[in-house]
Amino acid sequence: MDKTADVVVIGAGIAGTATAYYLAKGGASVIVCEKGEIAGEQSSRNWGFVRQQGRDPAEIPLMMEANKIWRGLERELNADLEWLSAGNLVTFDTDEEAAGWEQ
Ligand SMILES: Cc1cc2nc3c(=O)[nH]c(=O)nc-3n(C[C@H](O)[C@H](O)[C@H](O)COP(=O)(O)OP(=O)(O)OC[C@H]3O[C@@H](n4cnc5c(N)ncnc54)[C@H](O)[C@@H]3O)c2cc1C
Repeated sequence: MDKTADVVVIGAGIAGTATAYYLAKGGASVIVCEKGEIAGEQSSRNWGFVRQQGRDPAEIPLMMEANKIWRGLERELNADLEWLSAGNLVTFDTDEEAAGWEQ
């Protein structure tokens, strides 16, 4: 393993690996240190939603950009990321709960 790098990233979840990937793509040398397994914590347990509905409006541009990135990432990496662009169904028990999603 290299002993020096421009950037050392601690943690190989989605945040660390994405940071390392885009830094390396931009020309930086990067070392990623992971105490366990790559994507072995939260990043392998999530539901995989890049949901745009029901979000704080401040988060919408981030979600739109994330959707754009995920759509092209399989081709860019030449890997099956199991990315699926699909819908999201939410059910409610009460009118009050439903009202919270009417935006
Ligand atoms: C049940 C569940 C469902 C979710 N659903 C969604 C969803 O649908 N959509 C969505 O956007 N988000 C969802 N999330 C949230 C999302 O999974 C997390 O926000 C994201 O995975 C966090 O990524 P991370 O890289 O910050 O953390 P992690 O994936 O936890 O990665 C951190 C890494 O750092 C390593 N580490 C920690 N300390 C050290 C150290 N000292 N030295 C070396 N390595 C270290 C850990 O071992 C780990 O591998 C969900 C989360 C959960 C738990």
